[in-house]
Amino acid sequence: MFKGILMEGSRGDQQVSLKSIDEAWLPEGDVTVDVAYSTLNYKDALAITGTAPIAKSYPMVPGIDLAGVVTESSNPEFKAGDEVVLNGWGVGEKHWGGLAQKARLSGDWLIPLPASFTARQAMAIGTAGYTAMLCVLALEKHGVTPDSGDILVTGATGGVGSVAVAILAKLGYSVTAVTGKPEEESYLRSLGAKQILDRAELSGPGKPLTRETWAGAIDVAGGHVLANVCAGMKYRGVVAACGLAAGMDFPATVAPFILRSVTLCGVDSVMAPKKDRLEAWERLAQDLSPELLDSMITEVPLDEAIEAAGQFMDGTIRGRIVIPVVE
Ligand code: NDP
Repeated sequence: MFKGILMEGSRGDQQVSLKSIDEAWLPEGDVTVDVAYSTLNYKDALAITGTAPIAKSYPMVPGIDLAGVVTESSNPEFKAGDEVVLNGWGVGEKHWGGLAQKARLSGDWLIPLPASFTARQAMAIGTAGYTAMLCVLALEKHGVTPDSGDILVTGATGGVGSVAVAILAKLGYSVTAVTGKPEEESYLRSLGAKQILDRAELSGPGKPLTRETWAGAIDVAGGHVLANVCAGMKYRGVVAACGLAAGMDFPATVAPFILRSVTLCGVDSVMAPKKDRLEAWERLAQDLSPELLDSMITEVPLDEAIEAAGQFMDGTIRGRIVIPVVE
């Protein structure tokens, strides 16, 4: 038996609790992992609170990320004792996830734990941090450099935003952090933000084009925020869009794209190919300061994870939540 969070019932009528789970119930997979650490991401919170239909079947163990040690493997790439990390691939949605002491998965979804990180640090990064790196890579691949001008990061105190601010600042970019939490200004400056912008300035309906201000942007919000970000981009500016914290809609015009050659890059972490993941983790090892990463962590025990999920929905989370799973 092992401990894990279990979502039971059905869509719209789910019950979530910490349970003792029989190992025989683990799903199919060619690698079994003793989970050391997991984390809570926005998507896990949507799943646990039932705010969005993330779980595709029941019962489901939530948790889109895990880090741990292989105990059994028939996959040629992994053997017992290997330390591994998993992000996404539908785990915690279609396949039992990381918020439990054991997981059985496809070895194709795993990557080796990068040598520069502990399992705890890897989960402090988690999907949020790895997505932040994918967004930075998207800006770079479209030609944005520190000389291009200021970079805007929305949802800056959240998981994706905090890691994005820290990476960009370390790379020498001038970062403007957009936040709805003015009381977190000193936290954002400690991560390297040069300027702080009140989220309210971007939250309402705006003009098709505003003053050319940003050379690049990483947006976790969507909705009016993303539309206003696009409207304020410099000529040939690049926006990496990965989230929907403000909404799924995109009430914009084509003006920034056809008059300023703005590029809008969509970023998805869940199905990103392995080579992109390895590149992102390699760059995280180079470009994310471990001290700043530590400053983002709130550690929450597994038996308080369900309660902590609720805080995502009211936007009060700062940084990253790490869940020690092993006892
Ligand atoms: P967090 O909850 O940690 O952070 C989100 C932040 O967004 C909040 O802390 C808040 O920051 C800001 N925010 C909250 N409500 C609003 C609002 N109404 N309008 C604008 N900003 C708001 O979540 P994550 O950072 O983990 O994830 C952010 C988004 O990115 C989510 O939508 C998530 O689903 C998505 N995501 C997508 C991935 C992908 O593969 N495409 C992977 C990972 C995440 P502040 O108070 O500082 O403004």
